[in-house]
This record gives sequence, C-alpha cells and structure tokens, in this order.
Amino acid sequence: MKSKTKSSSELDANEFEEVLTLFFNALPDPIFVIDQTGFVIKQLGGNANEIYPFLYPFKDKLEGNNLSTLLPSHLFSTFMDTINKTINDDSLTCVDFEIANEGNILGIKNQWYQGRVFPLKQRRDDVRVVLWIAINITEQKLLELELKNLAEKDGLTGSYNRRYFTEVIQRSFLLYLRDKLPFCILMLDIDFFKAVNDNFGHDGGDKLLIALTDVFKDSIRDIDLLARYGGEEFIVLLPNTTTQKAMVVAERIRVATQQCNILHDEKSITVTVSIGVSEITVNDTSFENVTKRADIALYTAKTSGRNKVCIE
Ligand code: GH3
Ligand code: MG
Ligand code: MG
Repeated sequence: MKSKTKSSSELDANEFEEVLTLFFNALPDPIFVIDQTGFVIKQLGGNANEIYPFLYPFKDKLEGNNLSTLLPSHLFSTFMDTINKTINDDSLTCVDFEIANEGNILGIKNQWYQGRVFPLKQRRDDVRVVLWIAINITEQKLLELELKNLAEKDGLTGSYNRRYFTEVIQRSFLLYLRDKLPFCILMLDIDFFKAVNDNFGHDGGDKLLIALTDVFKDSIRDIDLLARYGGEEFIVLLPNTTTQKAMVVAERIRVATQQCNILHDEKSITVTVSIGVSEITVNDTSFENVTKRADIALYTAKTSGRNKVCIE
C-alpha cells in the first residue's frame, strides 16, 4: 500500500474528521440528518446560535427523537411533506417556515427559516435519509412583509388600500365569469365629515376614521374585504354574496356607525354613514360596472337624506 507523506495532498480519515468538525461548528445554520419517518439521526452545526430559538427547548433532545415529538403538529406536517417530496423527486426541495417563539426565549421575535432539503444516497435499513439545512431568513422575510404591507395597506387606518382592492375585485370578476360565483359591493361615505374636521380638528377626524375602520371590520366576515377607497370613503367586497344578504350587512354597518361614539379632547364625536349597494350581473363586462352602480346608489342615499342604504 502506498504510504502517505507530509506533502501528500490527500487528507487521512482523522484529518478529514477534524476539518469537518471545525467546519460544522463554524456554521451558523444547523444541519439535520433526518430519516423518512421523521427520526432525527444527527444535528450538525448551529448549536450555540441564539437566532435559533426553536432549538432551545429541544437542546440535547433533538438527536434520537422523532420530529413528531419535537414540533407543533402543523410544522410536523410541513416537515414530513417536504421530506417525502425530496425523496420522491430525488432532488433538492426548499420550504419557508415560521417558528413562533412561544416561550419568548432570549426575548426575540418569531423567526423565519428556509429549509433546504437534500436526499442522501445512503439508506438506513432501507429507510431513505435527507439532509435538512435550516437557514435563518427572518430579516429578509420581515422586510418582505413590510414592503407587502406598504403596498397593500392604508397608512392611517391599516385597512387595505384602493390598489389592493382593485386587484382582488378583478380576480372576483374573473371568478364570476368562470364559475358564476356572485359578489356584492358596498360603497360607504361618511356623512358631513367636513363638519367633523371643522368641529374637532383634523386629529379628531383621523381618530374617527381609525375607530370607524374597526366598526366596519366588526360588521363583516373574515372573507370580506374592507378597503379605504379615498379620504372618508370605504368600499367592501362581499364574495359569494347576493343582494339580499348584502343589504343586511350594509344595514348592520349603518346602525353600528350611528352607535359608535368616540371621545376626543373630552368631547364626543358621532357620525352617520351612507351606503350604496350593488351586485354583479350577467350584463357586466367589467368590475367597474359594479362599482359604478354602487356609486350611483351611494349618490341616491346622499341625496335622499343620508344615513341610508340604497341599491342600484
Ligand atoms: P357628505 O359626504 O355627507 O356629502 O359630506 P362630507 O362633508 O363628508 O363631504 P366630502 O366627501 O366632500 O368631504 C370629505 C372630507 O373628508 C373632506 C376632507 O377634508 C376630509 N378628509 C379626507 N381625508 C381625510 C383624512 O385622512 N383625515 C381627515 N381628518 N379628514 C379627511
Ligand atoms: Mg366623500
Ligand atoms: Mg362624506
């Protein structure tokens, strides 16, 4: 057998192991060797890194345990789906996941990771094995979420903005063309809002708009979409809803608005709202036909005395 000299460019097994150990210890991201059943065979690297709060509760418990005992059930499903996909496709699979820092460990926020999962050729008793690298992507994820928020939400009230509303209603219109799923629109305009600004100042007006946003949200379902359409105008998209139900929702909003009473500089502010309702019909060629009818109905509500719900 050829003996190795000092100048050989080959690493012997001991040298190789030392290099690998140093390498894994220096890695900020933990790597897991996991089998197809979810059994964690080995954890490499990422041990001491405080940006991995999800490892803390399991410290020293990861190896030799199954993911089902380590992760919340929704995450366990995500992990297993990803592992199975990696093995079935026999190629790299990536998945983003969020870990809630429930114990508030080290006082840090929830963390986002990207799992990059590679299939290994080696099997263990005929069970396939994968290498799971968990890269912390929290900073980029938070930036992404912040940008999305800025693009979709209104700065004052936190409700969706007109641009986002337009995107969603366009999709609803296409769904209607395809599946005939009906939808309704409510167009809301606060009555005599100028007088609120005049009597209570712009601050008072702003405070009222924020309070009314909550009132409107509380009057609709989770699947409905509330957006600030303009200054003191709001619009609501009611998916899978016909006129009769939309009128009930509009009336609920009208009454809740009338009952809303906010305090500003020790003075109470109350207002009313006028609402125009419309439903998509087979003759509509664009979502704009529907919003236009809601606008006409709103005008009728205004000119016939305000604090009313009208339909067109
Ligand atoms: P009506 O709708 O009943 O006809 O009367 P109005 O007084 O509400 O009439 P109009 O729609 O013309 O006026 C809306 C006012 O809302 C004018 C504008 O100064 C005010 N406004 C728009 N955006 C904001 C805002 O973000 N904050 C505050 N405080 N006021 C706003
Ligand atoms: Mg207006
Ligand atoms: Mg108004």
